[in-house]
Amino acid sequence: MGRETGTLSVVIPVLNEEAVLDELLRRLAGALDAVPGLAWRAVFVDDGSTDRTAEILLSRGEKDPRIGLLRLSRNFGHQPAISAGLAHADADAVVILDADLQDPPEVIPDLVTAWRNGADVVVARRRSRKERGLRRLGFALFHRFFGLLSDFPVAANAGVFGLLDRAAAEELRRLTERNRFLPGLRSWVGFRQAVVQYDREERAEGAPKQTFRRLARYAMDGIFSFSYKPLRLLMGAGIVVSLIGFGTASFFIGKRLLGYEQAFTGFTTLVSLVLFLGGLQLIALGLLGGYLGRIYDEVKARPLYIVKSRHGLAGSDRPPA
Ligand code: UDP
Ligand code: MG
Repeated sequence: MGRETGTLSVVIPVLNEEAVLDELLRRLAGALDAVPGLAWRAVFVDDGSTDRTAEILLSRGEKDPRIGLLRLSRNFGHQPAISAGLAHADADAVVILDADLQDPPEVIPDLVTAWRNGADVVVARRRSRKERGLRRLGFALFHRFFGLLSDFPVAANAGVFGLLDRAAAEELRRLTERNRFLPGLRSWVGFRQAVVQYDREERAEGAPKQTFRRLARYAMDGIFSFSYKPLRLLMGAGIVVSLIGFGTASFFIGKRLLGYEQAFTGFTTLVSLVLFLGGLQLIALGLLGGYLGRIYDEVKARPLYIVKSRHGLAGSDRPPA
């Protein structure tokens, strides 16, 4: 089917977002109804909300068949919720959108235009962002670090917001890895990629639902799944330290053989060396553990999420095996 008349699914993960839902639905419909020839549907994924989120969405869905809801059996997290939504989005294109209006729905028509012009993956890149303090610093550091470490290029300053053509979405669905870092996976699938710039807004209501710890873990997922460089760096550090050790040993033995007196007793040197090497080894163990834990997750092969119920949605309720 041509993209001029194609359908669009908007996947929206929600955790305790009762305060923003109506504003979100109003702005979403306002933005999407204005796009000529576009039939759209919202696929909300309730990621174990404990407030009235699901109730509100169910009642809105009764009046508007374009609003579908998938309820997970508990809180699985932002990325698993998105995977669940993707598994239930069967339109010609899929947009992934946070519910808190940080990613303005008014940008979606630009994504659709880029798609209609031939792009299969449209990445929405933040021109600016409004977070402050620790979060802002964290995001900046992460994007800096990730750019340096990643084994292959991933668009910086982009989150999950963006559009996927059916073909790209299908490939993404087939990836079975547990620790998902969508911005990386989205680049990884390839196809024709395009970038649309936008200004990231402040959260419309309430506090962020991703705790700082979750975000930190997500950042580590990104690095561990897209880079072997930490391992290579360790190896490099090991070689450098060994060379230094060999050098100093030769120096002191040589001195001794030539009959010089021992220059110092070396208590401070010894203690610092032991601590330094111990620290290096623990860091190495931690890094190995980071990879190992993720391998363990893959081997256990638990599903990414469990669906409790579906409302106004056809399609499969099982994630890929
Ligand atoms: N969210 C979710 N499950 C979670 C945490 C967050 O579905 O465990 C949703 C949340 O409701 C929001 C989106 O994911 O729609 C992004 O969350 P948030 O705004 O807290 O994250 P941030 O903007 O800090 O990335
Ligand atoms: Mg947010």
